[in-house]
Amino acid sequence: MTTQAIQPQFRLEQKRKIIADFPGPKSTELAARRAAVVAKGVASGVPVYVADADGGIIHDVDGNSFIDLGSGIAVTSVGASDPAVVGAVKEQVEHFTHTCFMVTPYEGYIAVAEKLAELTPGDFDKRTVLFNSGAEAVENAIKVARLATGRTAVAAFDHAYHGRTNLTMALTAKSLPYKGGPSGDFGPFASEVYRLPMSYPFREENPSITGVEAAQRAITMMEKQIGASSLAAIIIEPIQGEGGFIVPAEGFLPTLAAWAKENGVVFIADEVQSGFCRTGAWFAVDHEGVVPDIITMAKGIAGGMPLSAITGRADLLDAVHPGGLGGTFGGNPVACAAALAAIETMQEQDLISRAQEIEELATSRLRSLQDELGAESIIGEIRGRGAMLALEFVKPGTKTPNPDATKAIAAACLQEGVIILTCGTYGNVVRLLPPLVIGDELLNDGLDVLEAAIRAAK
Ligand SMILES: *Cc1c(COP(=O)(O)O)cnc(C)c1O
Repeated sequence: MTTQAIQPQFRLEQKRKIIADFPGPKSTELAARRAAVVAKGVASGVPVYVADADGGIIHDVDGNSFIDLGSGIAVTSVGASDPAVVGAVKEQVEHFTHTCFMVTPYEGYIAVAEKLAELTPGDFDKRTVLFNSGAEAVENAIKVARLATGRTAVAAFDHAYHGRTNLTMALTAKSLPYKGGPSGDFGPFASEVYRLPMSYPFREENPSITGVEAAQRAITMMEKQIGASSLAAIIIEPIQGEGGFIVPAEGFLPTLAAWAKENGVVFIADEVQSGFCRTGAWFAVDHEGVVPDIITMAKGIAGGMPLSAITGRADLLDAVHPGGLGGTFGGNPVACAAALAAIETMQEQDLISRAQEIEELATSRLRSLQDELGAESIIGEIRGRGAMLALEFVKPGTKTPNPDATKAIAAACLQEGVIILTCGTYGNVVRLLPPLVIGDELLNDGLDVLEAAIRAAK
């Protein structure tokens, strides 16, 4: 049985359609209203405004239909209006929208925590806390690790992205635009954050370095420069997101996790982008059997509703005194209902297998394009897992990053009605994050457009 056969009936026709030049008149009018009231620090990658979205399609206010290969940054894995999520949200809002779990608790929060205990790796007692955003989850994972260990230092990696709040800016590697820009810096940043070298196979100076050796390089820095006994936590994205969809060499993550365990350092996997079926497993750490002490989750967790979570070892989470963790909106009941429904959709439609199918379909097409274009092409590397795939673009025949070609490709795709996102420390990576429910036909149409854009780029 293929996943196609059990795809739900979509409300919107799954077809790309550009009927007029865009941005059209309604989007243009909205852009003008926006400029008068919305801060310009919030930028949008696509100049059209959304009217509706379903499956792999986004409709704009002027009647154009775009193929969505970004899922609102890996969020709408079950689609932007999954019937199960919509139904669960409607049902919940008719009863109560909020009471605050810290005041008058409710079942949905507990049910989400039960699900996360079941889905996250590790067969030990686990505890969960719910929040609103990925950054808030990361902040709280570090709070817990520091309190539980009585240590202060935190190690993060080159190319890391962990959010835009003060501590998570400090953990994030890339300066522009996250930590500052031409108009100034957002600092001072949180202290006691140390940066370690990542395993980035495509850009290693020594291309034969193994994952274990790359981990040893980071471990030496922790031992010699930070001191293992000062270190509260190591935080790492098992596949880096904003930094460029970097998949560390095999052995890197397990070696770091084992060292952390030996040294009483809390190993935090930031699965905010890579979690919830995205990589063809519940969590990206599952591919190498790594069991983190704490996992941070958000993006894909609740079918588009804002929810985030930390799940981890009970002894760590329960080291915190009552009242030490929480937040007004954390674990909002509507968001919890959406999460339970989204997770059910992932299970019922077997979106883990679907992510693997997407990987096969997309990588086989992109690899044959790479073969055809040859070694002198702008495609430096194709990488990723499941439906978290990327192309790193270079100047032909070199490893020099090619952000201009990357921008041109994204712009050419958009012109044809395909929304793709870019990322990477050097701005030279196109990332593919389609909704996992996207059908083959629509995905192939989107890839046709991407291939044509790559062929035309220099
Ligand atoms: C997006 C992201 C975050 C931040 O999540 P927000 O919800 O935007 O605060 C943190 N970590 C990773 C790996 C992310 O991709």
